[in-house]
Amino acid sequence: MGSRAIERHTGIGERGPHAPQYDRSVELDLASIRQRLEDEQRRLRDEIEADVEEAPEPMTYGSQAASATQVFDQNRALALRERAARELAQVDAALARLDAGTYGLCRACGKPIDPERLDALPWAEFDLECQRLQRR
Ligand SMILES: [Zn+2]
Repeated sequence: MGSRAIERHTGIGERGPHAPQYDRSVELDLASIRQRLEDEQRRLRDEIEADVEEAPEPMTYGSQAASATQVFDQNRALALRERAARELAQVDAALARLDAGTYGLCRACGKPIDPERLDALPWAEFDLECQRLQRR
């Protein structure tokens, strides 16, 4: 006996002058989210840097088939790097929002993003509804 009333763990949501007033029914585990974002940030940086090292081989006479493959590979590497760079920008932005205390809020409408969505996509900028509108 002698146990006190269970303290309500309010967690995040009161940080900063512009703290959102939305009631978060589900709390986000910001520490583990930050960890995942930082891991992802490292992975993407490695990926981007690894691709830069691949210098194209000099063109040799009569190697048109080979060079076509080479161009294809270069285009693919470029596309992968662009995608990695885009993702890295999103991860960076998500970490910035973590620091600012606005993480998990839709950038378009300001509503909290579904925690399940954040779990699947920790750098999500928009809730599902606004994401759909962005794609149009
Ligand atoms: Zn929204």
